[in-house]
Amino acid sequence: MTYAILFRLRTLAHLWSSGRSGRTLTAIHTTVATFGLVIATPSGVITPVVRAVSAGYLVRTPCGNTSIVATGTKLGRPSVVLDPGHGGDEQGAVGPAGLAEKSVNLAVAKAAQIALEGAGYPTVLTRTSDYRLTLASRAAIVNALRPRVFVSIHHNADPDGPHNGPGSETYYQLRSKVSRRLAGLLYEDVVAALAPINASWVGDTDAGAKVRVGREGHDYYSILRNATAPAALVELAFITNAPEEQLLARPDVQQREGEAIAHAIVRSFTTVDPGSGYVDAYPRNKNAGPGGGASGCVDPPLG
Ligand SMILES: [Zn+2]
Repeated sequence: MTYAILFRLRTLAHLWSSGRSGRTLTAIHTTVATFGLVIATPSGVITPVVRAVSAGYLVRTPCGNTSIVATGTKLGRPSVVLDPGHGGDEQGAVGPAGLAEKSVNLAVAKAAQIALEGAGYPTVLTRTSDYRLTLASRAAIVNALRPRVFVSIHHNADPDGPHNGPGSETYYQLRSKVSRRLAGLLYEDVVAALAPINASWVGDTDAGAKVRVGREGHDYYSILRNATAPAALVELAFITNAPEEQLLARPDVQQREGEAIAHAIVRSFTTVDPGSGYVDAYPRNKNAGPGGGASGCVDPPLG
């Protein structure tokens, strides 16, 4: 809403200041370009455009720096933005056999993207290969693209113990009913997809669809707090549990998770299903894993 209003105000300002109608179209176009334009650079990195410059585009890089790229593919407004957690030297959780969360998150996000686009919902990934991306840059991408929904994809660590069935968790935004229902649909579809697999699952005692509130009374996870779109964060399974790590290394299981995420998102658009698995989270003192900042961040090649 805020974006729409700002956009209109800026457009009006341009119309007013540009005067002659011949220049109006250019002025409006420039407004769009400087406000919500996001491009895929030639190397496939997704970057919000700060402004057009004579040499091309001044973009915000994954590490939060600015850089000029000569050319890029402009992205239209997508239905969905998916956010594969971690990347580059930030591995996320690592399984006992060495499988890194960042790789599974990306494979699952790509499978979900293919399923969503097959169903007619254009989808953009915040991270398209193995590079570091700060939490602020993830938020900048989703907030520039303004999708209908945003889902951050993760795999978990540090379970309470053995669990009867998958210990999947989904988190929603404190103040969004759309986000809460999305988290309930995601929980439902992810568990339905994984439960038929016979495995020694682990989980927390409050596995389910829930909200985590930080000390200041806001959403604990910054990716949920700072996204202006209705958003959910999924912790699909426990990569630190050897039997689950073995499953997560399999392309067919990654595919199954991706399709479950896509199915839940499509249901959020096309049904009034309420979702399920809603639980009250028990208080957590332990912080989520480190990372997400810009310190030591090295940008990938953009050109
Ligand atoms: Zn993670």
